[in-house]
Amino acid sequence: MSSIEIRNPATGEPVGSVDTTPVDAVHDLMVSARHAQTAWGRLDFAGRARVIQRFHDLILDRSNEILDTIQSETGKSRRDALAEVVTVAGTARYYLARGEAFLRPKRRRGAIPLLTRSILEHYPHGVVGLIVPWNYPFLLSIGDAIPALLAGNAVLLKPSELTPLSAVLGKALLQKSGLDESLLGIVQGGPEAGAELLRHVHYIGFTGSSTNGRKVAIAAAERLIPYSLELGGKNPMIVLKDAPLEEAAEGLLAGAFANAGQTCISIERVYVESPIFDRFARLVADRTGALKVGWSRSFDVDVGSMIHPAHAARVQQAIEAAVQGGASVLAGAKRRPDLGPSFVEPTILANVNRRAPIAVDETFGPVVSLHRVESREEAIGLANDSQYGLNASVWAGGATPAIEIARRLEAGSVAINSTLMIYNAFDLPMGGVKLSGIGRRHADHGILRYTQARSIVRSFETGGGYDSMLGRIRGEKMAAAMLKMVRLWRRIPGIR
Ligand code: NAD
Repeated sequence: MSSIEIRNPATGEPVGSVDTTPVDAVHDLMVSARHAQTAWGRLDFAGRARVIQRFHDLILDRSNEILDTIQSETGKSRRDALAEVVTVAGTARYYLARGEAFLRPKRRRGAIPLLTRSILEHYPHGVVGLIVPWNYPFLLSIGDAIPALLAGNAVLLKPSELTPLSAVLGKALLQKSGLDESLLGIVQGGPEAGAELLRHVHYIGFTGSSTNGRKVAIAAAERLIPYSLELGGKNPMIVLKDAPLEEAAEGLLAGAFANAGQTCISIERVYVESPIFDRFARLVADRTGALKVGWSRSFDVDVGSMIHPAHAARVQQAIEAAVQGGASVLAGAKRRPDLGPSFVEPTILANVNRRAPIAVDETFGPVVSLHRVESREEAIGLANDSQYGLNASVWAGGATPAIEIARRLEAGSVAINSTLMIYNAFDLPMGGVKLSGIGRRHADHGILRYTQARSIVRSFETGGGYDSMLGRIRGEKMAAAMLKMVRLWRRIPGIR
């Protein structure tokens, strides 16, 4: 068995290690998860909810320990770590309040009015696999496990090989809240561990890059298991000439530099109407220059470390290539080895070639390109001219034009006069179109995706019911009777 040593990306210090899970052990985890799930799936919602309610309270009581762990393996700011704890608590709270109603069996209209009754049920898949990335290691692992567990599943979770510790802590806290150890198995390791997980589970929820999402979809197709993919983005923001500029500038900073830009829904390209471009660019550049970048265990840092020196180097190269292609630097653009091995300054670029990689591909770092546009039509066209479609943001003086623009954007979510709000709007499905993914988390989608639909139809008629009725009438008479019945249905209110 090999082990993975984890270092704090902000300081380079070792902070822990985990053993990689051998291939045979994945099979064993699956068997015990399946076994434990049988009883858990039969428990009523209230029984499962008691565990998740205790967990909700426990993570708030132990938040400092969780923040320390998240920060240690990501190097992110404490504020960004806090967002993970708050959002996991919010997810738990939401599904504790609404989950039972989403999962409850529902009456549906029957095949023949009055004579039949139909019920739609949702039952758990069995063992749900979750493969998650490093950028929000507590939120994306435990936050997605909560609705899966509440729906009656067991979970096999594969954290990123870069950030395995937050998931281990999350599991320990779930166990302390009363969850059977086997109901949340953790598979440690890299892509090969993920590939092994895919050979066993009954459903896969993947969060990560679009490139790997495609591989996961192919593996799921081989076994014909259902899946959801939460993938990358190149999220646009549109700023109209009547937008509140100060607020829009603040919004951009939050939307682009939270988590050092390593957020799937973060803003990477901004289309600004020409009359306000220069003023907006100045505002944004000044405020970006004033952000505090660094490593701290207190809440005094705005922008933390990136995940890895290699990722910081990739982002730095992307900035340099853009500058060589004619881009101008309005703020930042430098690596900061004086702060730690993986820091990149929050960066604002202008005059970026619209076909340059930095304007088209997901950068996943603290870098934003500002583009001047002559009309809102041009802005909408450019925003949609992307292979991605995850999140978008619109800033306008009035609600009506903003909503009109939002309705034309090819994205899973659009925030008006805001940027990242979708992640905490638990009652709204969140996910992407195009290369940004398939399926949604949150809302009813976010728990029903962890279930299968079972339709139960029942006939009240004695003596064979619907089937024998069809069998008794034959030939022309049968055809005439059927057509008469269909015509009649059209006239009965509530049946059409
Ligand atoms: P990644 O695709 O490299 O890895 C994600 C996870 O998949 C890791 O656990 C990794 O070990 C595993 N993996 C990689 N290849 C695999 C394979 N072939 N089979 C099975 N598992 C495999 O992504 P990353 O670099 O860790 O994360 C950054 C990406 O995640 C960005 O593109 C970002 O936009 C995306 N992301 C999306 C969302 C969302 O909700 N849409 C949220 C967070 C991050």
